[in-house]
Amino acid sequence: MSTATSSSTSSTSTVSTSALPVASLGTPRIGPRRELKFALESFWSGASDEKALIEAGAGLRAANWARQKKLGVSVIPSNDFSFYDQMLDTSVMVGAIPEIYRWNGGPVPLATYFAMARGAQGNANEASCGHTHHGHDAAHGMPAQEMTKWFDTNYHYMVPELAKDQQFTLASRKPIEEYEEAKALGYQTRPVLVGPVTFLKLAKSKDTGFNPLSLLDRLLPVYIDVLRELACRGAEWVQIDEPCMVLDLDIIAQQALHYAYSEIANAVPQLKIMLATYFGGLGGNRDTALALPVAGLHLDLVRAPDQIDGFADFPDNRVLSIGIIDGRNIWRADLVRILDRLEPVIAKLGKDRVQIAPSCSLLHVPIDLALETGLDSEIKSWLAFSVQKLEELTTLGTALAGGRGAVEASLKASDQAAAARKASPRIHDAKVAARIAGIDAAMRRRASVFTDRVGVQHERFNLPAFPTTTIGSFPQTAEVRKARAAHASGALTDEVYKVYLQDQTARAVQWQETIGLDVLVHGEFERNDMVQYFGEQLAGFAFTTHGWVQSYGSRYVRPPVLFGDVSRPKPMTVEWWQYAQSLTKKPMKAMLTGPVTILNWSFVRDDMARSEACRQIALAIRDEVADLEAAGAGMIQIDEAALREGLPLRKSEWKAYLDWAVDAFRLCSSGVRDETQIHTHMCYSEFNDIINAIGAMDADVISIETSRSKMELLDAFRDYRYPNEIGPGVYDIHSPRVPDVGEMTALLRLARKRLSDAQIWINPDCGLKTRKWEEVRPALVNMVAAARELRASA
Ligand code: GLN
Ligand code: ZN
Repeated sequence: MSTATSSSTSSTSTVSTSALPVASLGTPRIGPRRELKFALESFWSGASDEKALIEAGAGLRAANWARQKKLGVSVIPSNDFSFYDQMLDTSVMVGAIPEIYRWNGGPVPLATYFAMARGAQGNANEASCGHTHHGHDAAHGMPAQEMTKWFDTNYHYMVPELAKDQQFTLASRKPIEEYEEAKALGYQTRPVLVGPVTFLKLAKSKDTGFNPLSLLDRLLPVYIDVLRELACRGAEWVQIDEPCMVLDLDIIAQQALHYAYSEIANAVPQLKIMLATYFGGLGGNRDTALALPVAGLHLDLVRAPDQIDGFADFPDNRVLSIGIIDGRNIWRADLVRILDRLEPVIAKLGKDRVQIAPSCSLLHVPIDLALETGLDSEIKSWLAFSVQKLEELTTLGTALAGGRGAVEASLKASDQAAAARKASPRIHDAKVAARIAGIDAAMRRRASVFTDRVGVQHERFNLPAFPTTTIGSFPQTAEVRKARAAHASGALTDEVYKVYLQDQTARAVQWQETIGLDVLVHGEFERNDMVQYFGEQLAGFAFTTHGWVQSYGSRYVRPPVLFGDVSRPKPMTVEWWQYAQSLTKKPMKAMLTGPVTILNWSFVRDDMARSEACRQIALAIRDEVADLEAAGAGMIQIDEAALREGLPLRKSEWKAYLDWAVDAFRLCSSGVRDETQIHTHMCYSEFNDIINAIGAMDADVISIETSRSKMELLDAFRDYRYPNEIGPGVYDIHSPRVPDVGEMTALLRLARKRLSDAQIWINPDCGLKTRKWEEVRPALVNMVAAARELRASA
């Protein structure tokens, strides 16, 4: 075999030489039992010291290497571990540490690293403990770096912040240290780096009028230093991730790739680069990829199966890494089907220059299915987490090199699982299919147009101008979470827990009345999570106990598993709404999560189009909307927090996605009478791309996150002449800072320049669940005062 990585330094190698090499592009770093989270939190709280944290990290890495070795992985990665995020690690590696963090140029202290990750209270030795998301408050010390979604995953990275005159320097030797650490333990690894072009493309700058890619020249020497040193210390291969290559790239970016990899090849010719692309096909970047002087190329053949056809003439001095097991979803693979596809491909390419791999890093799936002892055994037999996926790959590797006979039993088991899943009555519900078939145009359309509905609604609710409301949740205090945990463990009975939640709700309702909000909410105290809460009550969803996936830093999520046809056995929220409405004469807004958001935050079926699964969820939510309306709810909010983030990576696919996403929203929300007011909520910062879709959703009221944009986001609504009502967020809920009346009226003045007074509602940017009551109380009192001031002056 010619691939250098098969020559492991480990004496305990279990890799059969007759297997095709199996490469791992990266493995989950959080630990099977969330060890990383607990080590980080303990360190941040001061309960343990830096040494303990560093040891915990080393322990996790060693366990990851050992696990992969044991599973028969031949190409084991290093530097895929991170205390927080690989993009942040890269910023630190190249010394892109903005001035506010007051780095002195020496080795980067952990405190500085965590200040960049999470913000800090003025002095860099003390990282803040608040789990603030996205925005941070400079007035309270050092803000964290901005965070945003990693391509179309639900993983969030820290956005590199670069200056026009940015200088780079090798500030962290983490890739080299972790390579050495693995080597000392007996593992010859393939270190992983975020590629220089992807790094720059994802960076932002406060300086205007320059393209971060123009810094490539200055950045490359640092990469070359790292690569050179890795080569010196014995690394034969390095994996460089350039997922930006699955995006629409302009000529500047394509040239940057040429330049970067030519420079690297010239400077470190002895090192073999595996250029990893994933999350889609190369599309128009295929020729660029083929022209790069790299020793290997990784393709995602799960997202883009057909792109293999474009690599029939792949140069024979290169290694092709075939990403064939889905690194983004949790389904067990149909191994025989994969073999049927791969055998001819490999026969053509030649066994000695092919590796098989997951489509992308396994960071995006949970670690080990074996821990799911509580999961329904039938559903469990259909799933594969990272450990099982690597097992699948070693089975495939053996079959592809030595014939299917060598793994007959595994292939048979895979066949049986695939057949059983296909035939299972658990996933097929004829009633759902019949309802889907019966959807007609009228079900996707309100009975009257907005201009006719609005009058009826105003008459019904008789609200003041600039009505005030909130987005739904109130603080999920430690006490609320403790009660939920006690209930889950059986320590609190259903009845006691319910009384507790009713008490929380009643207090919240009473308080909202006292301060004079116009439209009230019940507070969402009973909800663990805006998607999980619904998933748990819908047929077709399953839940794991250890299926954690990193969302950002120490925050992990357990996405629901959408495995079958979706229906709603019984009302999900009606009782809580009724209870809350019984406490007040003011309108109580009912609160639901929309179908697109439920879909986008779940692991979804691979045997059905996303659009189809979304439509089923929409029908279930439609049932809930109908029941709420029948119970008397006059305002129903259907949150679509994740609608925009579901946008495909390629612009050419946006329209199709938005069409079905809007369709699903309309389907769930259109079954109501004119006088029932449908609200929706979205919390992000870019509406230009989706303003047509928002218009087509036709919600009577939309609340959006605008406070930090100084209302500039409303330009999109103004230019579109958006006719329906809007609540532009008037304060940043990601920060603990309490806004005063003046700044909110100032924002509202800006809103009135772009919208008509009759359209405007007043609300915070998003739900208040992550805030403390001490922050929420004065902030909302001020918000109501701002509304009153506005009414008096308007
Ligand atoms: N209703 C939800 C809440 O208030 C909305 C959350 C969100 O948009 N992320 O928490
Ligand atoms: Zn929100």
